[in-house]
Amino acid sequence: MIKKIISPYVVLLPLLAPFSSLSAAVTFNFIYEDPSDFSAESVADIEAAGATLGSYFNETATVNIKVDANITGGLTLAGASSLYNNSNNSFNRGAVGAKIIHEIDGDITGLGYEGTLSVNLTSSINWGFGSSVGANQSDFQSTMLHELSHTVGFSSTIGEDGSSFFGSNSWYIFDYFVGDSTGVLIDRDSNDLDIHQDRWDAASVGGAGEDGLVWYGENAIAANGGEAVYLYSPANWSDGSSGSHLDDAYYTDENYVLEALAGRGMTARTLSAIEVGMLKDLGFDTVSVIPEPSTTSVLALSVFAFMLRRKRVNS
Ligand SMILES: [Zn+2]
Repeated sequence: MIKKIISPYVVLLPLLAPFSSLSAAVTFNFIYEDPSDFSAESVADIEAAGATLGSYFNETATVNIKVDANITGGLTLAGASSLYNNSNNSFNRGAVGAKIIHEIDGDITGLGYEGTLSVNLTSSINWGFGSSVGANQSDFQSTMLHELSHTVGFSSTIGEDGSSFFGSNSWYIFDYFVGDSTGVLIDRDSNDLDIHQDRWDAASVGGAGEDGLVWYGENAIAANGGEAVYLYSPANWSDGSSGSHLDDAYYTDENYVLEALAGRGMTARTLSAIEVGMLKDLGFDTVSVIPEPSTTSVLALSVFAFMLRRKRVNS
C-alpha cells in the first residue's frame, strides 16, 4: 500500500497535438474478457485512451489488447502487460511494440492479442469517467492511457536486485536507456549486456532526480529542453513501479501520464512532449536510435511484463 501526501492536481499540461493530416495511426482493438464487467462509460474511456495513444504513431497497425476486471486488491488502480519475447543477452521489444513497428505482423502470439489490460472496478476505487471526474475521484481515462503506454514499451525489466525479470540478461528495449547520473546502467559493449551492479544498487533506490534513475534517450532529453529526464526511483523499491515511470518525486509540479502514482481529480489525458520523445527513443515513429532486436521469432511468448499503477492517497 502506498500512502503519500499530495496536493490536488489543477494544472494540465499544454496539449501536444498528435494528429497528423496523413492520419497514420495505431488502432487499439480491445477484447473484453467479460463484457458484462464493463459499463458503457468505462468502455468509452478505454476506447478514447486507445485512440489517443494510437494517434502518436506514424505507423498504421492494429494491436489487440485483452481487457479484464481481474484486479480486486486494495489501492491498485490497474495494470497492463505486453507479451514478451524472451531472447537472451539482447534488448527485446514486447509483442505490442513489435506489431506497431511491423517487426512481425499477424497474430504474433497465437493468442489473438499482444497485450493485456486489467482494471480494478471494485468499490475500493472511486472512479470518474468521461468528463465527470470529481475532485476526489480517480481519472479512469487517464489511467487507461497510462496503462496502454506500458503495453507499447514504457516498462523496465530490471528487477530490484538488478537482474532481468526474465533472466539471462534478456532486457526490454526500455532498459537500453536506463541509467544513473553518470550514464547508462547496462553495459552495451559487453556481449552479456551486464548491468553495472553497484551503480544500479544505488540509483534504483536513490530517490528523486539525479540521485535516482535517469533516462538516456536523446529525443526525450531534447523534448525536455536538454535537461535530464528522471525515472521513478523511490528509496523503497516498488515492484512494478520503480524504474518504469517518470519520477513522481521530482516532477511535483508537473502532471505526466507516465508518473507512477495517480492523483485525484481529472489528470493528464495526453502525453507530454517528453513522453512522446521517449516513444521516439524506443524506436517508434522515427529513425531508430537503438539497435534492432536481433530476434526474428516471437513465437515463444510465454511471459508477461506487468506494470501496475497504484492510487495516490492522502495519508
Ligand atoms: Zn504504471
